[in-house]
Amino acid sequence: MDPHTIELPRIIITGKGAIQKTLEVCKKLNITRNPLVLVGENTRKIAGDKVIENISSLSPNDETVRNSSEEEVKRILSEQEDFGAVIGVGGGVVIDVGKMVAFRRGKPFISVPTAPSHDGVASERASLTNKGMKVSLRAEPPAALLADISILMNAPYRLIASGCADIISNITSVEDWKLGKEYGEYYSEYAANLARISADIVIRSADMIRKREERGIRNLVEAIVTSSISMSTARSSRPASGAEHAFSHAMETILAERGLPHPLHGEQVGVGSIMMAYHQGGDWKAIRDSLKSVGAPTTAKELGVDISVIVEALLRAKDVRDRYTILNKKPLSKDEARELVLKTGVGEDI
Ligand SMILES: [Zn+2]
Repeated sequence: MDPHTIELPRIIITGKGAIQKTLEVCKKLNITRNPLVLVGENTRKIAGDKVIENISSLSPNDETVRNSSEEEVKRILSEQEDFGAVIGVGGGVVIDVGKMVAFRRGKPFISVPTAPSHDGVASERASLTNKGMKVSLRAEPPAALLADISILMNAPYRLIASGCADIISNITSVEDWKLGKEYGEYYSEYAANLARISADIVIRSADMIRKREERGIRNLVEAIVTSSISMSTARSSRPASGAEHAFSHAMETILAERGLPHPLHGEQVGVGSIMMAYHQGGDWKAIRDSLKSVGAPTTAKELGVDISVIVEALLRAKDVRDRYTILNKKPLSKDEARELVLKTGVGEDI
């Protein structure tokens, strides 16, 4: 076996008031001058201003991230010539752009998520749009992660439920990765187990999460971190991204072609995971029930998309990327895709 490098965050801080430790973390990472703080329009008020104030002695610059596109990364790089590190304070968009801005300049990245909405917070992958297509790219793995529970537990519940769904979907990702293994693809039992454990923790904590109890949100955040670490360990998103993620990417492309907005990442992969579990011969009802218990969508209607989009996404998913999944092993015809949508109750309202 070839040497395999694993890069993990050096410092992970979870708990109430974690963002007050930003300066301390910068010092530990030898970040001594002008960090660039990236914020979203809403996250500036929620957490960005507090982070900027906390590190004022380092003379930070700040910038508002508008979207997660390649053009936005280039815009920020052209406007910000000199910075010692990047601190991303926000949701998926800000964190993805932050990782890439840091990567292009070879600077350390600090991840400060404001919502537990997906598992990219501690991974080295960034999901960006380039000329309308969503691509997953190698980016800077966070040197530190500050998960402030008092901020995360007050995130809009829809984002929390979406984060749960993203982690629950690891169940089908891991099964797809095992199929890749049969074809000689790199596979790590350890990374696969980390991804699986994350899903189990979220499922067991569903009630507490639904009630926004501190322990529940902490369990979700730790599951998100663990899922992220599973990807860093595998050096790919394989343990947490299988056919259900390909389905989600295909759906976003189709909706964009029709000029329609798309649901949240976790919402899409959750529904994809119900159908892929059925197709894999797994316990799809358990996945559906877990999604229901955290309050995530389980039908096309709840996603707010037409059945035709779901069917077309199922058909296109196998070609989204060069990754062997159940959809390559058992390709679906249009009729079979429709049947899958009906049998799993995803299209219960047609
Ligand atoms: Zn995901």
